[in-house]
Amino acid sequence: MASRAVVIAPARYAADSGIPGYSWIGASARMYGEVLTGDPMWGPGACRVLDESQVHTAAGVMAELQLAADAAGPEDTLLVVYVGHGAYWGDLPGAQVHFSVGSSYDGKPWTWLSSWYVYRTMRRSRARLKVLIADCCRSNLLPQLGDEPLLPGVLGELDQGTCVLTALRNADHASAEGCSALPGELAECTPFSGHLLNVLRTGTQDHHARLTLGLVRDAVKQQMHVCPTPHDVPRMSLNDARESTPLFTNRMASSARNQRPRRPVEAEQWVRTLRSYDDSELEELLADPRKTGEVVALLHREADEGSRLIAQRIDAEANSRYAEPHDFARYWNRVQQALRG
Ligand SMILES: [Zn+2]
Repeated sequence: MASRAVVIAPARYAADSGIPGYSWIGASARMYGEVLTGDPMWGPGACRVLDESQVHTAAGVMAELQLAADAAGPEDTLLVVYVGHGAYWGDLPGAQVHFSVGSSYDGKPWTWLSSWYVYRTMRRSRARLKVLIADCCRSNLLPQLGDEPLLPGVLGELDQGTCVLTALRNADHASAEGCSALPGELAECTPFSGHLLNVLRTGTQDHHARLTLGLVRDAVKQQMHVCPTPHDVPRMSLNDARESTPLFTNRMASSARNQRPRRPVEAEQWVRTLRSYDDSELEELLADPRKTGEVVALLHREADEGSRLIAQRIDAEANSRYAEPHDFARYWNRVQQALRG
């Protein structure tokens, strides 16, 4: 299994382009390269940070992206990181978010890279897991990577998953100016990338040795939420990929991480275990339809998106697994009782 990452971060633009060049963009790109190279799940050679000539045109970016997408095999992960300016023109046919490249001009959509081309190339890659991290204005408008009708035979097996992690959730515009609350070089990066890289570089206290998609999202969200500098919170859209899918190494020393929790017994303990995106004990839970029903009902009551997604996933498992009407009734009664109670 090999992982491949491509970092696209145009930091400089023509003087008359009307687009500001930011050192924070270039610093973020370098840090992604450094952090991924130091991560044993990625390592030297897995991450390509495109240079200024490669990010000068849309064709230059797409040529590099195509190489990485074509090289990825069915066991691989393909990660694309974009840091730069984002724009959206509602009057273009099939309007899409557009990414700036070094030769882009303000107000001239044809000089930008449509995210549609990035999505198309990523979708056609054979990689098992495809992840796009987008740190730019309008990233809140980026759709899921896998939500278009799939052409049979083109996209391969159904277990392929996609994830889009965006700097913005509610706002249209992201501030590029580095967050002064971040340590050292990370303060020179854009705020979202700085916080994300901080999580990747330091790790989290979670007992898991690898950072899953869910753990990364929650850690970055939490850190940006409590940061003295006000930030919008990031957004993650998953398609088939699971929150329990590992993407990075947890760099926190194991002695500084929390103890692995004991095997859950009560529904509340199960919810805590599942919230840490550990699938390893899910089989045991599903063996008990009543307990599964209680856990799904508890998760449903939690207001946050993460809990609802886990509840939906367990519910889908339960629906396919409890083929015996008796088992299904035991599960469903508990869900209903708990939801009413
Ligand atoms: Zn901050």
